[in-house]
Amino acid sequence: PDDLSPSAQIDYDRLLGGLLIEGFDERSCRSRYQFARYHRNAARVPSPYLIERLRRQEALQKKCGPGTKSYNNAAKQLMSTQSINGISDCNYLFLTIHAGMGNRMLEITSAFLYALLTGRVLLVDRYKQIANTFCEPFPGTSWLIPSDFPLSYNEFTKHSPESYGNMLQENVIRGNTYRSLASARPPYAYLHLDGDYAFHDKLFYCEDDQQFLQGVPWLIMRTDMYFVPSLFLIPSFQDELSKLFPEKDTVFHHLGRYLLHPTNDIWYSATTYYRAYLAKADKVVGIQIRIFEKKGILQRNGPFPHVLEQILSCAQGEKLLPQIGVTDGAAAGNNRTIAVLGTSLSSWYSDQIRERYSEHRTVDGTMVKVYQPSHEEYQKKKNRKHNMKALAEIYLLSMSDVLITSGFSTFGYVAQGLAGLTPWIMYRPENHVVPEPPCGRAMSIEPCFHQAPYFDCRAKRDADLGKVVPYVRHCEDVSWGLKIV
Ligand code: GDP
Repeated sequence: PDDLSPSAQIDYDRLLGGLLIEGFDERSCRSRYQFARYHRNAARVPSPYLIERLRRQEALQKKCGPGTKSYNNAAKQLMSTQSINGISDCNYLFLTIHAGMGNRMLEITSAFLYALLTGRVLLVDRYKQIANTFCEPFPGTSWLIPSDFPLSYNEFTKHSPESYGNMLQENVIRGNTYRSLASARPPYAYLHLDGDYAFHDKLFYCEDDQQFLQGVPWLIMRTDMYFVPSLFLIPSFQDELSKLFPEKDTVFHHLGRYLLHPTNDIWYSATTYYRAYLAKADKVVGIQIRIFEKKGILQRNGPFPHVLEQILSCAQGEKLLPQIGVTDGAAAGNNRTIAVLGTSLSSWYSDQIRERYSEHRTVDGTMVKVYQPSHEEYQKKKNRKHNMKALAEIYLLSMSDVLITSGFSTFGYVAQGLAGLTPWIMYRPENHVVPEPPCGRAMSIEPCFHQAPYFDCRAKRDADLGKVVPYVRHCEDVSWGLKIV
């Protein structure tokens, strides 16, 4: 707001416009209150209603969280063979974790929104380096599932009889007639919402199914996606969602900044790098390079000359980076410096860009310096250092002034969402040819839901769900995906 005194403005920024509350120990998680220092204000203000609901969710997390009597009772109920009648105050959504960093951040945020909408406590897997990478988001409680959680949740697959899709398919809950029966519910249901999910699993996104699930005390969810766009298509959530997010395309921007705070060592490495190489530049151009070519396992990340040409043609064509002069005697220096922050599993692309800009001057005399924090060569999901680097780079990218991202990649979605920046998306090349155009401006700062369902629950047939409401459309980079605009 414009009417705050300078110190009140600093507090307002530090708490991200009220998303965060005072009272956490600053030293144990520096990133929580330092985010605003390293990010331009994207001028997206959270609604007072969202802030109120976050405070209510925090109270619920504390009241029902691990170690409470309510939690212990609920955990006991999990092992009961009887069906549940009536609901208690404490119902849970337990999210298991398996995917890469970008997917992980998207699924946690989606699960959190779903928990908020359905009055559930969100708990997350404690084993997949969550505590190493993210601080606890809720005051006075933990979001990590206790180690004595009674179910072997890692064994759930889409074939498990406990999966909601299978219960539907096997008529355990009698398809669509269950509502006319007594309100009996199983003590828990496993929601398989991974990319390989089947027709019955996807009925999760239907109104009737949501009504059924509302009475199930424990939901155990496995997903690797940003399923928020489909929540916007469920009628019973629509009013609440528009109150929470009057600006619809800010869901990830607000919830991601509310929920995800990298731990101190990750934050330290990101901010140290930023101050050493990027802070002094007049402009920071983040270029996120993710390659999904299938060309033999060793050559996965190239070097692919067409990808390099795509990056340069996007950056220069959109005037995000200056053209390189043909002769050395081109324009004299204008004292402007652009820092390029490249991120990629391979070092080749940044090296090439650096080389091109160092061989000749730019046409307007701007200096272009290219930096890349790491090149891990391939994805190593279980390696702690590797995951820490990935997260540090996501936050570094989000500190850029402009962003160029690779289509299909959740790594870039998260950076753009945290930053509140509308990126230029490089479309996926086919047959090793630079696409024309090489990139385009995204419609919004929101991530794309890749494997979105296409079933019209009311009409009971497939339909184009990118045309139901004006604010949920097909993504720029994934034509069958859905995103909020
Ligand atoms: P997506 O596969 O591009 O959607 O993104 P994910 O983050 O879900 O999975 C990719 C994983 O590969 C990351 O989490 C990292 O482990 C690794 N990775 C991909 N690109 C980069 C990069 O630019 N830098 C680093 N450090 N790791 C990367």
